[in-house]
Amino acid sequence: MGNNKSQEKRKNQIVLKPNALKAMNDNCCPVCGLHRDSWSRRKDWNCCSTNCTMLFYKNCVIATSWQDMRFQIFKRDNETCQLCGVKASWSFFDCDHKQPIAAGGEMWDKDNLQTLCESCHKIKTKSDRVVIKNYASPEDIKRLLREVEEDGYAVRRPYES
Ligand SMILES: [Zn+2]
Ligand SMILES: [Zn+2]
Repeated sequence: MGNNKSQEKRKNQIVLKPNALKAMNDNCCPVCGLHRDSWSRRKDWNCCSTNCTMLFYKNCVIATSWQDMRFQIFKRDNETCQLCGVKASWSFFDCDHKQPIAAGGEMWDKDNLQTLCESCHKIKTKSDRVVIKNYASPEDIKRLLREVEEDGYAVRRPYES
């Protein structure tokens, strides 16, 4: 799925919480909401003040990469497969979308993600195929995957603040 160019682009993206993304698109500080016109620092930065910059990652960022998200879910699930309960090792587990993206599932929603061991993931992938088949036509699936690939969900470039 996708070409090298879009994969290259994704490396430099972080994922923002929807309200933070909306604030930035509205020219406001993503942390406190102050409009850019009222900032007393450089307007090309991402936050209105040093204080807000310090809170930026904690308050506004869902993940800095897919790898980061995967790590967060792995830790949250206590490194345990959520279907069979086996301890999963970092190098040998899958971060699974409970509701597949191609069936309308949210790519970056932590509630839609779970840790699975390799064998459970194989079983889950088989059942996903049925869910996806009943949900959308092959053309729909291609379009959905392309949208995720190109735009992602609340995805922005990184910050220099
Ligand atoms: Zn602020
Ligand atoms: Zn398992």
